[in-house]
Amino acid sequence: MWSDSSDKILELFRNRNERFPRTCPCCGEKAGHMFLFKYEDSEIGGGWVWCSVCKAYSHISCRIPAWWKNMPSIALEELFSCPDNLDVMSQSIDEWVNSIFEFEASGKSELLRNHPELLLTETIIPYIGTDTFILGMNLMKARTILKENGIPFSQWIDPHKGCTPEIPWTFISIAEKSILLTFAEGILFEITFEQNYSGGLANGIHIGTNMEEVNRIDPSLKYNDDDEVFVSRSGYWIEDDLDTNKIMSITVFLPEIEQEDFFEYKWVEKYQP
Ligand SMILES: [Zn+2]
Repeated sequence: MWSDSSDKILELFRNRNERFPRTCPCCGEKAGHMFLFKYEDSEIGGGWVWCSVCKAYSHISCRIPAWWKNMPSIALEELFSCPDNLDVMSQSIDEWVNSIFEFEASGKSELLRNHPELLLTETIIPYIGTDTFILGMNLMKARTILKENGIPFSQWIDPHKGCTPEIPWTFISIAEKSILLTFAEGILFEITFEQNYSGGLANGIHIGTNMEEVNRIDPSLKYNDDDEVFVSRSGYWIEDDLDTNKIMSITVFLPEIEQEDFFEYKWVEKYQP
């Protein structure tokens, strides 16, 4: 009766903010569940997603994320690829997973309250942003995060008078030349990390990296004369300081920025809530 055929059900592994039971991507019923089990002394374990109604499921072997905690009442011997046993306990499993998410969320906001400077150390991810500033997010959300964490910022607008279409851009500069957020129609489409930002790209490139080192790490970087930046095929731009021969800024952006009709702003709709 369980059917292990649908890739769709794997969507239940995504999005850590949403509580369980979730809407099943296969049948639309609010009966989607997730469970992980980490093997002892290993980063590896098993993952299950399933729907109690349409019985779609998937079982994978995977690296278990650091935030996961094994549920004490479920032992390895009780686990099989088919989620029969797990479905019987789906309610307590949902509560367990939801409580881990809540703990994570409160733990993080607590940490940021005490150490707001951590916002300025997060990994820069092309087309995504950081854990906190996510490309596609709206202006109010970004302002709320900054205010709640007591991070100083200034905001101004370039009205783009005379441009077609005349879409103003809003800029937010965070904590003395650390991050510059750029919004169009209230949507964050570009983030520039500046002098005082201490996080870096996952490939090791960060503000202050020597340009020779940079070209060694990412040989796809090409200089663009018009914009006076180095463009990476991996989805970021770099600005160098000619005096020091080091990186001065790193910019990431929405994937739509690479399309020719970007300045027609049709992409904005997709991100508006
Ligand atoms: Zn279903």
